Amino acid sequence: MTFPSFLFQPTSGDKIELLATKIISQYQPEVLTGNAAFDVNRFVDTKLEDMTGVTPIYTNDLPPEIFGLTDSAENRLEIQAALAEDPFSVNFFRSTLAHETGHCIMHVPQLRTIKRNQVFRQAKGDDSIQLYRKDNIPVYCNPEWQAWRFAGALLMPEKPLRMMIMDGVSQSDIAEYLAVNISFLKVRLKALKMQN
Ligand SMILES: [Zn+2]
Repeated sequence: MTFPSFLFQPTSGDKIELLATKIISQYQPEVLTGNAAFDVNRFVDTKLEDMTGVTPIYTNDLPPEIFGLTDSAENRLEIQAALAEDPFSVNFFRSTLAHETGHCIMHVPQLRTIKRNQVFRQAKGDDSIQLYRKDNIPVYCNPEWQAWRFAGALLMPEKPLRMMIMDGVSQSDIAEYLAVNISFLKVRLKALKMQN
């Protein structure tokens, strides 16, 4: 039995942090000095296709339980339009976009190299809180773990996050400023060993 997860290069958290930081410094460097939240919507709408060859599409055709989907064969990132338009789900929408961006940047090029295809679906219940150990593979080999780590690094870069924590800013204020759900912030703080 083969696990599709082994298709992908093992990638450490540090390597993923560097990749996300490089993208931020290229497209919106003020995020790294704590002066803005990363505008992932704008990045996906205006830069993702040039960078990865993957076209973002907002659609009503996805099943309601699927929020986002990256299809490497079609070079398409499909995003549930209802989620994009829901004013109460802005933070979750941002994390969905950041997660799928991770697949487009890290995994689609690897699939092209080995001439394989895969569809990544982000469904209800798949979130950053799970550590994806269910496949019995180390997390850093799991493309879903990699994509969540990337999403965290893109929306909550370590340097400004540490500055805010050291300045005593509350977690709810940090989450609001960076436009992420507080549960995602807590996962991020744990990953960076800034919280037990
Ligand atoms: Zn995914």
